[in-house]
Amino acid sequence: MRCPFCLNQDTQVKDSRPAEENVAIRRRRLCPACGGRFTTYERVQLRDLVVVKTSGRREDFDRDKLERSIRIALQKRPIEPERMEQMISGIVRRLESMGETDISSKLIGEIVMESLARIDTVAYVRFASVYKNFQAADDFDRFVSELRPLAKPEG
Ligand SMILES: [Zn+2]
Repeated sequence: MRCPFCLNQDTQVKDSRPAEENVAIRRRRLCPACGGRFTTYERVQLRDLVVVKTSGRREDFDRDKLERSIRIALQKRPIEPERMEQMISGIVRRLESMGETDISSKLIGEIVMESLARIDTVAYVRFASVYKNFQAADDFDRFVSELRPLAKPEG
């Protein structure tokens, strides 16, 4: 896998272990070119999900985008990274097991809010306040960029 820091094409796996109650494999990787270290997760993908936006536009579901928005909402909150990963996997599994390939962006937003509410009220409020103002909830990238200023570190 390519190094995210120096874009070297080749990195080494230094450690590989089951994660998230055996639904994922966590690998620690090392880039021999720049010495950068990063982590990858390998997971089963049950279904290729398509996100249907309010505008009717469709795009492939992107777990990284989902993770980014949740990460921002949880910034500086006392939540273990492992817990966050579990939550994200839970959301994805829920989406995958709905029996539909097409999932509305609205439903995804609601499930994320519900999940955040269960683990951290502040993160929930951050996410919800942006989400609810963002009626269209259409462009997830724009949504994420609106979320970001709220999540800026205080001070
Ligand atoms: Zn590198």
